Amino acid sequence: MHNGMKKPLIFDIKRASLNDGPGVRTVIFFKGCNLNCFWCHNPEGKSPDAQIAFFAEKCMGCGNCAKVCASPAACTVCGACVTGCPTEARRLYGKPYTVEELLTAILADKPYYHATGGGVTFSGGECMLYPDFLANVAERCQKNGVSVAVDTAGNVPYAAFERVLPYTDIFLYDIKALDSALHCRGTGVSNTLILKNLDRLQNSGKKMIIRTPVIPDFNQGEEVERIRAYCAARGLTHELLAYHALGESKREALAAHDVFRECQPLN
Ligand code: SF4
Ligand code: SF4
Repeated sequence: MHNGMKKPLIFDIKRASLNDGPGVRTVIFFKGCNLNCFWCHNPEGKSPDAQIAFFAEKCMGCGNCAKVCASPAACTVCGACVTGCPTEARRLYGKPYTVEELLTAILADKPYYHATGGGVTFSGGECMLYPDFLANVAERCQKNGVSVAVDTAGNVPYAAFERVLPYTDIFLYDIKALDSALHCRGTGVSNTLILKNLDRLQNSGKKMIIRTPVIPDFNQGEEVERIRAYCAARGLTHELLAYHALGESKREALAAHDVFRECQPLN
């Protein structure tokens, strides 16, 4: 499906990142993904819609969220409980941004990009689900002297790549598994389109870094070695990404968004 006209929501803007491409970078996280990786580090990026998360360990049980909520039976994601929570136990994931607003956030760290060979990285979720919006903001970045990286799982029509190619300096391209059945089991989708797009993208001559998250009970070991050999044979730069369990607490928090009804005032 070509989602080019759809307006994305942004679930995070991370400044001063050192792990998402060359140099110091600002990372823009787009909400929505068409893979469903079981280990996902950013589960709040999977749905394209806004979501509320409840981090139970931060809650002091003041009951304020229950008081301010006008729709306890069916959350409308109005955000009132988030604003009303004094301990940041509640968080709203997914806010709309205009191209101008994103550009302002990105340009704030321009001196750091220039000093370190960094820039902006568009990530997610899957930022390539929004090629028209992405191309617009990437073009504005380049015009303002900011280098652009696009972090993608590659499972989109190649037309989306053609849309953003002119405004992208480097792609960070994930290969999670070469074995098709394994890829399906781990991510919920085939890797056929991903590998086809990779070939076409490499033929375009655009700079790329291939990245593989190393996941226990999935690709760790033999499969990762196969991916390394695959990249080496094609002259592609390859990086490994460490697995971390941070996604777990966010998964729990997203599932518990309506737990506020059990919170009671302490007095
Ligand atoms: S749970 Fe929070 S976001 Fe959802 S309707 Fe209630 S106040 Fe609004
Ligand atoms: S009861 Fe609600 S408002 Fe109070 S700290 Fe917990 S989540 Fe926040």
